[in-house]
Amino acid sequence: MHSGIYYPPGSLKARVCAQGARELAQYCEERQLPLHRPGKLLVPVRAQDASQLGLLESRAAAHGIAVQRIDRDTLGRMEPDVRSATGEALLVPNTAVVSPSAVLDAVSRECQDASVDIRCGGRLERVEPTCQRLTWAGVGLSYGHAINCAGAHADTVAHHFGAGRRYTLLPFRGAYWRLDPHSGIRLRHLIYPVPDLRVPFLGVHTTTSVTGDVYLGPTATPAFGRENYRGLQGITLTEAGRIAALLASQLIVGRDGFRRLAWQESARISKRGFGVAARALLPGLRIEHLLATDKVGIRAQLLDRTTGRLVMDFLVERGHSATHVLNAISPAFTSAFALARHLIDGYIEQRSLNEMVELER
Ligand SMILES: Cc1cc2nc3c(=O)[nH]c(=O)nc-3n(C[C@H](O)[C@H](O)[C@H](O)COP(=O)(O)OP(=O)(O)OC[C@H]3O[C@@H](n4cnc5c(N)ncnc54)[C@H](O)[C@@H]3O)c2cc1C
Repeated sequence: MHSGIYYPPGSLKARVCAQGARELAQYCEERQLPLHRPGKLLVPVRAQDASQLGLLESRAAAHGIAVQRIDRDTLGRMEPDVRSATGEALLVPNTAVVSPSAVLDAVSRECQDASVDIRCGGRLERVEPTCQRLTWAGVGLSYGHAINCAGAHADTVAHHFGAGRRYTLLPFRGAYWRLDPHSGIRLRHLIYPVPDLRVPFLGVHTTTSVTGDVYLGPTATPAFGRENYRGLQGITLTEAGRIAALLASQLIVGRDGFRRLAWQESARISKRGFGVAARALLPGLRIEHLLATDKVGIRAQLLDRTTGRLVMDFLVERGHSATHVLNAISPAFTSAFALARHLIDGYIEQRSLNEMVELER
């Protein structure tokens, strides 16, 4: 769960992340779901990142999030296995870890207890927005108000509704390695590099799961399909061509640090290259300490076709009797409860939230 310190004041992320984190922690506490509060240490991996610590401190102050500047000696005592290019670090004590599957199971159970009809495994096939009808898994449904939260497919679903035409997905794959528990590296906190705030990725960091496993990652390498979790899985020629063209145009224009990101991330595709990035945080890490894992996700990153820029904030677009949650990238999981309330209050009239009605099979 992110604390919310990264996001510029006024952004939707800033408005919902810190509040969402508080609500999610409370939700887990009340239901006795796994919740650990190791806190996060942000360390500059390059001397020129030092000034970013001050910027992050001022953002934390603006959002009411407690942080503490840590000097070289204290960092050495707190985390002897961690390197900071300047010796300093920023401690975010409230950053916590939960179990997403435990949270989703609990939410799903409570929804069903409240008579919400949850259907899985189907695909939205057709939409007739003017008569508020859609076809899902061969079933015809009418809707009062449709809410599109289709993650890496949210742009195409929005296009079915005639919304979000200026946006398209540029998917990135986020892969992780597991730290060998016998590496001798001991971490008390989550360790993050000071990020490049021009791009929506936080860089290779450590995550200690609720079961105590330490993961290193994620990468942000281009995925050539929306479900391209590994190798050639989930790739179609048309989609791969579309993504390759978007990537090429981003590289040519080279805006917002995209070339540096591409150069950095292409090096991290190999285990050796990834090891170099991870060693910037953990100098004692050796390549054999990185164990293969199937933990991987697709970052559902949106690109604005009119500006040619990656969309940094969450984006919500209101259509005819429909609301489209576009660009639900990190920290949308952390923010979920607060973001949901923002959507209901700000975009959706309660009276239009009629139940879906099954029409035909
Ligand atoms: C590597 C990685 C690390 C991350 N780390 C963090 C983190 O530390 N903290 C954090 O807060 N967030 C993190 N995130 C972001 C977080 O995972 C997402 O913000 C969150 O999952 C978004 O939730 P969602 O419900 O909007 O979309 P999703 O979880 O993507 O769910 C979308 C759903 O829509 C369904 N769907 C799609 N298309 C259709 C269709 N046509 N018909 C029917 N169903 C459809 C899909 O099957 C899926 O079930 C991370 C993401 C990645 C990739």
